[in-house]
Amino acid sequence: MSDSNAPYADIHLQPIAGEWRHGSGTERLCNVDPYDGDLLVEILQASRDDVDSAYSRAAEAQPDWAERAPAERAELLHRVVAVFDKRREEIIDWIIRESGSTRLKASLEWSAARAITLESASFPGRVQGRILDSDIPGKESRVYRGPIGVVGVISPWNFPLHLTQRSLAPALALGNAVVVKPSSDTPVCGGLLLARIFEEAGLPAGLLSVVVGSGGEIGDAFVEHGIPGLVTFTGSTSVGRRIGALANGGAHLKHVALELGGNSPFVVLADADLEQAVNAAVFGKFLHQGQICMAINRIIIEAPLYEAFAQRFVERVRQLKVGDPHLVETAIGPIANPRQLEGLLDKIARARREGAKPLYEGGVRGLMMAPHVYGEVKPEMEIARDEIFGPLVGLLRAQDEEHALALANASEYGLSSAVFTRDLERGVRFARRIRAGMTHVNDSPINDEANAPFGGEKNSGLGRFNGQWAIDEFTRDQWITVQHEARRYPF
Ligand code: NAD
Repeated sequence: MSDSNAPYADIHLQPIAGEWRHGSGTERLCNVDPYDGDLLVEILQASRDDVDSAYSRAAEAQPDWAERAPAERAELLHRVVAVFDKRREEIIDWIIRESGSTRLKASLEWSAARAITLESASFPGRVQGRILDSDIPGKESRVYRGPIGVVGVISPWNFPLHLTQRSLAPALALGNAVVVKPSSDTPVCGGLLLARIFEEAGLPAGLLSVVVGSGGEIGDAFVEHGIPGLVTFTGSTSVGRRIGALANGGAHLKHVALELGGNSPFVVLADADLEQAVNAAVFGKFLHQGQICMAINRIIIEAPLYEAFAQRFVERVRQLKVGDPHLVETAIGPIANPRQLEGLLDKIARARREGAKPLYEGGVRGLMMAPHVYGEVKPEMEIARDEIFGPLVGLLRAQDEEHALALANASEYGLSSAVFTRDLERGVRFARRIRAGMTHVNDSPINDEANAPFGGEKNSGLGRFNGQWAIDEFTRDQWITVQHEARRYPF
């Protein structure tokens, strides 16, 4: 086991089946800082055999963990919170270096991951069974709520620490064992760092394994394996569809929780407070370079406010500082990797070809991409239809409130959304007609609170994270009856 007093600097081994070791795969993963290209760590990747060992050991370790008193599991989670606090700067530094997050975004991510850990500490004491009435004389009918067993967690690169932790902390708190497969872009924040934190807090060995490997290499084996009873996946809709099909189309049926892509509409009605709406739009679009599932994808403005909004938005966007993500004043850091950048450059070229009007086009240097804003965007253009996941955005003109609603709902996605109006109840009425899992009145669509249901509709996914919803996802009901007196059978 690793020396838990040492700083988490040397982090190239993986915790697989109870020991820190190299993966037995043939590929070597070079993990680089997207801002300066520095090599952060080299990792020998895990193989399918490692996935099998990790799941087998998890299945062995889990029953004892589930038997521990709720208070013991809660205390473990409190100690994890304490390690988060003690190592705050180190964790934030890893998030900045590994995922190109600005200091602001890295701090927000640390806070979100800490908050779900603290929330999870309450879960062991909140699991409830039931006693039901029975129609059968002498029968006692009970419903026990218990852990699923072993949970497989697959996470993306954009909020790696938090999006792993929002499955990992509830799953362990509720008596499950976990195997994590982080994204190849963020193996440290998405898994290895968290394993060190849990180990330092005293989690027994074998309950948490992390296997680092590409989706193409170990992904299918990870999902199809016979041991996990639940696979939680956060990532793109295309990979999510595959995970859903694999989890329920093969030899072993299992639960899945899918948190997928988004295309958040940000609706500005004509009576909105312009300055507040612009402030929310700038934050909701450009935090983490727009690489957030909840980030604004389309800005829909009611016609009377369109010109004024466009002018003020561009004024603000021009002032955003692009550069070194370590500096407090930086608003926009690097794009995560060259593949993502290439996709964004294609989207810009396509937007221009399709007739979107350039309102502001910042430069592109290496992986640094300044904001790009386009006006007169139509719903059929790619920039409106597809998830963008970068610092570019289109403005759509709505004729009236009904048109704005129709535009907002004209998407295959339904994750987050926002509407601005001075009439708050009008805002709520509008919000209730948006087909999305989450809608915020007079705020940006980027919101995630540990006690509130997080999840999407339509092609944005299945299931909800956080609070009571996480307790439901990470446990299952078992109906047990006790026949107290001899039952009379018809034959
Ligand atoms: P991705 O789908 O490419 O990858 C996500 C994870 O799946 C990675 O760990 C990857 O290695 C793994 N994977 C890939 N192929 C696999 C396979 N065949 N089997 C098993 N695992 C496989 O997504 P990404 O590029 O890392 O993240 C960006 C996407 O994630 C965006 O679409 C974004 O909207 C979405 N996202 C959604 C949420 C949410 O809560 N709804 C949050 C963050 C990101």
